[in-house]
Amino acid sequence: MSQDHSYRCLEVPGDAPFALGPSKGKGWGAFATRRIERGTLILREKPLFVIQKAHDEITEQDIWTAFHQLQPKEKKQFLCLRDNDSRPFLRIIDAFAENSFSISAHPPTRGIFLLQSRFDHSCIPNSKIPATGGQSISRFATRTIDAGEEITFCYPTAFHCKTRDERHRELRFICHCKACLPGTPFQQLSDMRRTLIRGLQYLTLGHDFNGQRQTSASPIIFNSELKQAAEDFSIPISSRLIYNLLFMVLMEEEGLLDDFIIRRMTPSIRMTTTKFQTESNVRIARLAMAQETWLGKFCVAFMLHGRRDVADDAIAEQLRMLHGLSV
Ligand SMILES: [Zn+2]
Repeated sequence: MSQDHSYRCLEVPGDAPFALGPSKGKGWGAFATRRIERGTLILREKPLFVIQKAHDEITEQDIWTAFHQLQPKEKKQFLCLRDNDSRPFLRIIDAFAENSFSISAHPPTRGIFLLQSRFDHSCIPNSKIPATGGQSISRFATRTIDAGEEITFCYPTAFHCKTRDERHRELRFICHCKACLPGTPFQQLSDMRRTLIRGLQYLTLGHDFNGQRQTSASPIIFNSELKQAAEDFSIPISSRLIYNLLFMVLMEEEGLLDDFIIRRMTPSIRMTTTKFQTESNVRIARLAMAQETWLGKFCVAFMLHGRRDVADDAIAEQLRMLHGLSV
């Protein structure tokens, strides 16, 4: 049955390092046809068409209008799209919803990507589409992928700090990735790690992943003094450094620490180490950052635990001004 599946008609570039094929329990997916090194570009794809509107304002008519402007060959490609049960979509708006990506927030624009939409979900993915400008979207390997391995990515955002149950409430299917297989030590640790990651983010940013303060219905930081310190940015610099490094260690243990996160986090971690003014703290922070691994950096930085710095009050004030909390 898979031999005559309509996805066999989708045009995959000749030099692409993947092929489409059936994925056990997940419909169809994309599989590496050769070893793909970490950081390698897997696919850059232009949209078949775009609609310049907010996602929830796009109508069936908008999509039909765009469809009718396509070349016959492009229409044929679009009509290859199938739902999760490999049946043709009953409504064109569902085909659009399941196969489109946001390519711009200002103005809000979504595009249809026939190939990028073929990659299945995993909560521990091996590829990522970083935010990029322009209409094309590009997918990169976040770790080395072996030939024959399925290439996956994480559909929703902020899954790195949500437990299995929280993730499954958002997904419309059961995920069977390593972090979701119940009853395994990895899965139990995964829930703990992701809960800790959420807390560490709250302590350093002063808010939850969605920019909101915690509510009594879903507490994140249970200690009210610590929660208050996070929200008014009076967490000492030593704790900020320790929390940031522990975040990196936990992300690495979880299999989620890719080069994009390292490039985003490293400057702010280095910046934190330059804030110390107390000489003994400066020495420990330098020694920590000289270690090769994130675990090594964290273990040395933990010597700073509970230590105040003469710069603490000034840094807290700067952060409060930055966030408009200062009078
Ligand atoms: Zn999963």
